Amino acid sequence: MSLYTWEELKNFVDRCTRCDLCRTRNRPVMGRGDIKSKIMLIAEAPGRMEDQQGIPFVGRSGGILDELLESAGLNRDGIYITNINKCHPPGNRDPERAEQEACMPYLKYETALIRPKIMVCLGRIAAQQIIRPDFKITREHGLWTERKGFYLMGVYHPSALLRDPEKIDSAKEDFRRIREKLDTFL
Ligand code: SF4
Repeated sequence: MSLYTWEELKNFVDRCTRCDLCRTRNRPVMGRGDIKSKIMLIAEAPGRMEDQQGIPFVGRSGGILDELLESAGLNRDGIYITNINKCHPPGNRDPERAEQEACMPYLKYETALIRPKIMVCLGRIAAQQIIRPDFKITREHGLWTERKGFYLMGVYHPSALLRDPEKIDSAKEDFRRIREKLDTFL
């Protein structure tokens, strides 16, 4: 059971100054979706458009994410999507390790609130923070790691698929496996 409701967590995030990203963000981007979902998708940080709109995965990478979800018969209504860092790093750079650590408590509270069975890391940075520091996304995407009752998987970040569309079929296969696992919990 989480110590906080989703609204309380959002209020903390909205006022947060725990790292320097608070100086350059437009607005923090709290996770969104079904807080009773069995599946949580986690990326590294909001992009520029997310920073403007305050919603995770809008714009072109959001479109790719929707395509992946739809290919597996899923949609955003039934999942929860969040980021390790709730604030946009300037210039779209990767969040630094200290910034990630400063923001991790929010992800821990979100996880305690939602209690997912499956955690999908979108991209290398999330996978290295959540699964293993030396996680290699090109070699290990689509593989399950079981830990303390959670099933963890790293997949390509949607923006990586925008840069390299040849990987999209492989990403869809990963999402098919995610759907297969999710069905075992329904
Ligand atoms: S990234 Fe996280 S820790 Fe840093 S200011 Fe934003 S909400 Fe706070």
